[in-house]
Amino acid sequence: MADVFADVLKKLREVQRLAGWSDEELAVLEKPKRVLKKTLRAGGKQYAALRVQYNDARGPMKGGIRFHPAVNESEVTALAFWMTLKCALAGIPYGGAKGGVAVDPKKLSAKERETVSRAYVRAFAGHLGPLIDVPAPDVGTDAQVMAWMLDEHEAISGRHEPAAFTGKPLALGGSRLREEATALGGFFVLREALKKFKAGKTVAIQGFGNVGRNAADVLHAQGYTIVAVSDTKGGIYRPQGLDIAAVGKQKDSKGTVAGFPGAKSVSSEELLELPCDVLIPAALEGQLTEENASRIKAKMVFELANGPTSPEADMILRKRGIPVVPDVLANAGGVTVSYFEWAQNLTGWYWEADEVRSRLEQVMVRAFEELYDEYKRRKGIDLRTAAYILAVNKVLEAERARGRIA
Ligand code: NAD
Repeated sequence: MADVFADVLKKLREVQRLAGWSDEELAVLEKPKRVLKKTLRAGGKQYAALRVQYNDARGPMKGGIRFHPAVNESEVTALAFWMTLKCALAGIPYGGAKGGVAVDPKKLSAKERETVSRAYVRAFAGHLGPLIDVPAPDVGTDAQVMAWMLDEHEAISGRHEPAAFTGKPLALGGSRLREEATALGGFFVLREALKKFKAGKTVAIQGFGNVGRNAADVLHAQGYTIVAVSDTKGGIYRPQGLDIAAVGKQKDSKGTVAGFPGAKSVSSEELLELPCDVLIPAALEGQLTEENASRIKAKMVFELANGPTSPEADMILRKRGIPVVPDVLANAGGVTVSYFEWAQNLTGWYWEADEVRSRLEQVMVRAFEELYDEYKRRKGIDLRTAAYILAVNKVLEAERARGRIA
């Protein structure tokens, strides 16, 4: 299993030289503030569960909870670190965290999913809350999981605290557009990126869950041609473009996009190497590797998944002149609308979809412009390196203001 956090540390040390951080400054970012580990007991079974609270200098910690069999400490720690960078880059007042349970949600009944969700909240009670650490959905979790978690949290605290979890159903104080927020925020960034890095509008998307499916919908509606999509059961390719609404219907009825009529069957790995303008990994980490990076035909990689590109692949793509718009910017729309949801919950004042959309656009466009300026100013670095420099500097600024570092 890849040690994702070891790669993060390697990257941070590489960037240190360019950014000019002292060892004291680097040390602040090299380890999480707190790693919480518990064993959940649910339905006669046991599951390993984690919450990694990485940094809280800029505000309450924030990050999703993942239900996936491969969840492990290195992965969750890396994801918590990236959340710290992401919130800083988006300029929202949060630190970073992430959680996970090593469980295959596809093998759980709805009742078992509820039991695991409630057990998670009981296990980490006291460490979660609107002004402490605010979870949200991630791979394998959704609005329903957040609803159960919020209900359990409120049963423990004895009061209504909708701002303790984001990504909730509208009925419990969720925000309009939260479901499609990551994809919509991604679209705003992609639109800006395509003005700077010339590429066309044919797109291949790996992953057809919350992020990938919404990205296919949003981009299709914006006039992009979606030539390929995939999920765990396989992928489909149609160079002239897929009818995304029909693909979505099949996903709902058959549980997979694979076998969609009129499209060529491809594996999820083959999808990555198809001819297209923009390749969007929207599934899991470690998909673009040393092995396949030299065969990528896309003109741009746009990371809606977290950590889909290994450091070796990053290097190869850079040498080949293929820009990679990094996860910490590309998928920050999710946490940005989570922030809007939290703000709405704390004020009790709920916004219309138009307001959410225009505020999201403002945040994403500004974040892209700031990153692009840093990238241009520092000549010869890639966008991910620019993102690390910019985001870590913002975290260090908050650490310094608090007097935690000199
Ligand atoms: P999800 O569970 O809703 O969907 C994941 C999708 O990926 C599913 O369609 C699954 O079939 C597919 N998948 C898994 N392994 C695959 C493989 N090897 N090949 C092809 N498809 C595969 O999860 P999600 O919320 O859409 O998250 C996807 C990615 O986006 C993750 O990296 C997550 O951390 C990141 N992300 C999610 C959010 C959010 O708001 N949900 C926000 C930011 C980033």
